[in-house]
Amino acid sequence: MGFVYAEVQMVGRHGEPESIEIRIVSHHGRRGCCSVCQRRAPGYDRLPERRWQFVPLWGIPTWFRYAPRRVQCVEHGVVVEQIPWSDGKRPVTCAMMGFLARWARRLSWRETARTFQTSWESVYRSVEWFVQWGLAHRQLSRIQALGVDEIHWGHGLRADNFLTVIYQIDAHCRRLLWVGKRRSEKTLRRGLKALGPEMVRSLRFVCSDMWKPYLNVLAAEAGHALHVLDRFHITMHLNQAVDEIRRAEGTRLRTVSKQKAAKLKHLRWPLLRRGSRVRGRARQKLNALLASKLATARAWELKEAFGYFWHYKSVIWASAFLDYWCERALRSRLEPMKKVARMLRSHEELLLNWFRAKGEISTGTVEGLNNKIRVVTRRSYGFRTYEAMEIALYHTLGRLPEPESAHRFC
Ligand SMILES: [Zn+2]
Repeated sequence: MGFVYAEVQMVGRHGEPESIEIRIVSHHGRRGCCSVCQRRAPGYDRLPERRWQFVPLWGIPTWFRYAPRRVQCVEHGVVVEQIPWSDGKRPVTCAMMGFLARWARRLSWRETARTFQTSWESVYRSVEWFVQWGLAHRQLSRIQALGVDEIHWGHGLRADNFLTVIYQIDAHCRRLLWVGKRRSEKTLRRGLKALGPEMVRSLRFVCSDMWKPYLNVLAAEAGHALHVLDRFHITMHLNQAVDEIRRAEGTRLRTVSKQKAAKLKHLRWPLLRRGSRVRGRARQKLNALLASKLATARAWELKEAFGYFWHYKSVIWASAFLDYWCERALRSRLEPMKKVARMLRSHEELLLNWFRAKGEISTGTVEGLNNKIRVVTRRSYGFRTYEAMEIALYHTLGRLPEPESAHRFC
């Protein structure tokens, strides 16, 4: 490219090296390239020397020093020359940005900054550059299965505390494709638009919760794909109903007698687990509860019974079971359970699609990706803004292609 290392200098005080400065000069007689079109152009003048942070050598902060030339391009006029180790006006070399970004996947951004003696801001900008490069170079072809979900973020329940996430959930590739604020129809439309009409056309399956705005948009935009309701979300709705009943009953019993209320104590988590996974003392308590005539016990039994639904192979039998279960739930006099039953009934066709798509999409995928997202959003990464968190999500879950770390010099 026409650059050479001219001089390496150790800068320090009291015999302790504080930084390494590498002075770079342009190759004698070789013209610079226009930074817009990358074609060689005659020189115009020279700008004052600038510094770029390079990967630390032997743990010592290292800098490139170079006075960029300006060239006179036939097409683009007087512009700064193309500088191979740098991108735009950033004070950090591409090599260093790639280096920091790769570390920022293993360490928190704060730890990365501390370890390599740079600022949090510089780590943030590096990851941002890395992610933007990856997003611009990623392949969106051959995506067959899409998962759409909502994630809660931060404190409170305002509209801005929810994110819409779009995943690829194919067996050969599971990754985060898009994330956006809020969980409205508008958000999802924006996401699908960003991924492009070609990506949407190639879809065979879409997987989501029963959240109305998502159902509407997916029906309108991806009607050709088989829409499957996610098992994980349905279990969640059932669990929420059981929990609601337990809480209400606990409050009611406490006003009558303490002894009766004690039956419901410490049962929150055992009730939410699958029955076969409850063991030990929790199991004893659960058995005692089931022997009682409490509403919580009946709700739990209904929830457990629904588990059979997923074992069917034929759509017809699954449909018959769904009818039977909803009938039972609707007669249960447990309002939260009745609500779930009504919801399942009104989405029967989408629910049964799970059997039509059987084997084609794996069920735990959305849940697994959600858990990973929670790790990023909850760990105290010190994300001060939504934008920083979004970058971190793409960085850790997007499986983005990476820019080559090496730059060519001569
Ligand atoms: Zn040019």
